[in-house]
Amino acid sequence: MQRILNYIGGAHVEPAGGAYLETIEPATGVAYCEVPDSDERDVELAVAAAKQAFPSWSSTPAFERAALLLEIAEMIEDNLDDLARAESIDNGKPVHIARAVDIPRAALNFRFFATAILHESSESHASDDQAINYTLRKPRGVAGLISPWNLPLYLFTWKIAPAIATGNTAVAKPSEVTPMTAHLLTEICHAAGMPNGVLNVVHGLGAKVGAPLTAHRDVPTLSFTGGTATGREIAKTAAPMFKKVSLEMGGKNPTVVFADCDFETTVREAVRASFSNQGQICLCGSRIFVERPIYEKFVDAFVAQTSQLTIGDPLEQTEQVNQGALVSKAQLEKVQSYVALAREEGGEIVCGGEVPEPVSERCKGGYFFQPTVITGLSYDCRVNTEEIFGPVVTIMPFDDEAQVIDYANATDYGLAASIWTRDTSRAHRVAHRIQSGTVWVNCWMIRDLRVPFGGMKQSGLGREGGEEALRFFTEPKNVCVRL
Ligand code: NDP
Repeated sequence: MQRILNYIGGAHVEPAGGAYLETIEPATGVAYCEVPDSDERDVELAVAAAKQAFPSWSSTPAFERAALLLEIAEMIEDNLDDLARAESIDNGKPVHIARAVDIPRAALNFRFFATAILHESSESHASDDQAINYTLRKPRGVAGLISPWNLPLYLFTWKIAPAIATGNTAVAKPSEVTPMTAHLLTEICHAAGMPNGVLNVVHGLGAKVGAPLTAHRDVPTLSFTGGTATGREIAKTAAPMFKKVSLEMGGKNPTVVFADCDFETTVREAVRASFSNQGQICLCGSRIFVERPIYEKFVDAFVAQTSQLTIGDPLEQTEQVNQGALVSKAQLEKVQSYVALAREEGGEIVCGGEVPEPVSERCKGGYFFQPTVITGLSYDCRVNTEEIFGPVVTIMPFDDEAQVIDYANATDYGLAASIWTRDTSRAHRVAHRIQSGTVWVNCWMIRDLRVPFGGMKQSGLGREGGEEALRFFTEPKNVCVRL
């Protein structure tokens, strides 16, 4: 069985305790590689290596840092097929989706921040005739970067690229559920000539690696993407140490469909927003509110299209497979428990709701679940207020604009929303009143890397993307010179 190693100080090394965890292929339920079960000793070594690398890396000219990041981007593209296959095996997503979405976006993350730092300027403020102020933005030191399993390389590099582009060094922890592309990235970085210690990757469990990294006194900057409960733990540790923290957390996103929408496009895109990546994208629309005059027609059309989705072996090259496996047995059980809860709460399962027949002999032990549509639930029941993070959506009718805004805002989350209408004024009005870090109008998941990305309420603290990320990973200092 293949063994992944930690990457510390420019070398692939065994974990200090010598222990490993099994990584399971979700499509088969069979272990296929081993990942370090690291602990605080490994974190200590990684932080020390990152700290040692910081003076030299932070004073490396921006164009040299950019050149390295561009080289990494190119090597990711050169290895597209291998990385996509690794992501699919690790996560259960269809390989053609990893090939079209996850891996190209990882390369783009490096390209985007490599070029962004070449165009940076900072402010100057003249204080009448008295003085001139100018702002310096310096890297902050060692950044701790913690990412989840749903878009493994995509989200891992979304943190690494801005952190190191701006001159910080990093200790990164991928989810131990999906460690393979993080490991392959370390090989790419090494081959690209990244100086030792600039990026260190420590594999292992949240409690044994994430927690000591969060608490480490030499890690003043923390960027986390994952569940809200974990984000809360990180905030608790970081607050008394006055660390700079960015938290990207869970979502329970509304899809708001008005009767005047472009019906065909809306149904098609709402299905995509519900079930992409088996519903395991923080931006998926899991609560669909439909204006009453078109409610029945919408449910019928939505269920008809959902029934057409094909569950299959994620490694099949055909684009016809659009539903792979859920990431783990635990995730499958969580999804099943919410479908059972929906029944208890009075919901009607109008599509899916079961584990499907095995898609092939190879996949008979895999963690597959049918795309599931539920109606008849109240907007404020548990199924409609707690994050499920799987291929399960609810559809509910509404009567007017004010009511649907109340429904949409009736959760602790506020990550993303989409609004479907031909009435432009209404689109703006509703967009302004929905409590959500991103609102899409007549579209879903169009991502421009320059825009602020993040959540309100319990979905997030701070923003990623573009200028926001460059500012997060740097410390502003004002220099005031008397004239
Ligand atoms: P988790 O919060 O369970 O884990 C995220 C990462 O944190 C993992 O690497 C995990 O390690 C680590 N971790 C766990 N406990 C601790 C701890 N005490 N201290 C530090 N790190 C810790 O999330 P999931 O991996 O289950 O990912 C799914 C969640 O991520 C969903 O809630 C989803 O909404 C959210 N998400 C949010 C996004 C956003 O942009 N807002 C984007 C994508 C996902 P380990 O794997 O070992 O548990």
